[in-house]
Amino acid sequence: MLLNNQSGIYKVELPLLHRVKHVNCYALRGRDGWSLLDAGLSREASYQVWLRFFEEQAIRPADILGIYITHYHSDHYGCAGWLQKLSGAPVYIGAIDAVRINNYWKKGDYLLPEIDKLYNCNGMPSEVRKLVLEAEAEIIPYTVPHADLTVLQAGQTVTLGDYEFRVILTPGHSDGHICYYNQELGLLFSGDHLLPDSSSIVGLSAQAGARPDPLADFLRSLDSLRSLDCQLILPAHGKSFPSLAKRISRLESYHNKHLAAIRNCLGRGTAAYEVCRQIYGPDLSGNELRFAMAEILAHLVYLLHKNELKITCTEGIYKYNNR
Ligand SMILES: [Zn+2]
Repeated sequence: MLLNNQSGIYKVELPLLHRVKHVNCYALRGRDGWSLLDAGLSREASYQVWLRFFEEQAIRPADILGIYITHYHSDHYGCAGWLQKLSGAPVYIGAIDAVRINNYWKKGDYLLPEIDKLYNCNGMPSEVRKLVLEAEAEIIPYTVPHADLTVLQAGQTVTLGDYEFRVILTPGHSDGHICYYNQELGLLFSGDHLLPDSSSIVGLSAQAGARPDPLADFLRSLDSLRSLDCQLILPAHGKSFPSLAKRISRLESYHNKHLAAIRNCLGRGTAAYEVCRQIYGPDLSGNELRFAMAEILAHLVYLLHKNELKITCTEGIYKYNNR
């Protein structure tokens, strides 16, 4: 779909597998060729959408000059290797998430024992952990073939289409998430950092070296965007929207309410999994649980860092209560 004729920006919707039906990828037409932004999952359905788009726009593989990725999650990075194989174009991603890809996706099941350990000591029963790990493992093949990565640094300028975009580091949803901003157009490609209808998942990662307080990072990243002069935000899921300030306020108030709801669940020592069940109910799939649990943990860790909670350990299970 052509979003803006003058600036040559197209939205390409790639199908996903679960509750969120699509990821928005973007293509920018320039005088010398095309830039792509985010890639979709690596699977036949995605390849077909990209190939159809290339045919419609008469794009030859050599016309693709660069593939820019907002963060390492499979629905954004997954198809980058396939697009690179097709076109020979460089794949750009922020420095921190490039490390995540090398340490996580490229090593296959590396993270599964870490997730098992983290969720076990936070009270998730073994049969539930099994479902979560199966869902986690299912995602890994959607990132193959892998891309050779070119690393971007915060503050760097890149050319997408015919426009210069500044790379803004916005950690929280992933440790190395980046947005791309052009002041002249008042345009922000916000990836999963800013979505129109809901907050993206802000979850505690089990990865060694992961940031310890992702919700604090996320809220700081939101605040850091407040002063941008933006007329249009193009997110990775859902519709584009015009008001940055309004969206930032809504997201801040959502997380404040969520923190209060979590605090209300805490009795005389409550495990994170019990909080997860109280907040989200008993009927989550393995895939939903892996996000829900990571999200509850991120909020508990945030409150711990603010010294609003106490933590105790009973028979290997962490219990949280209010101070
Ligand atoms: Zn994501």
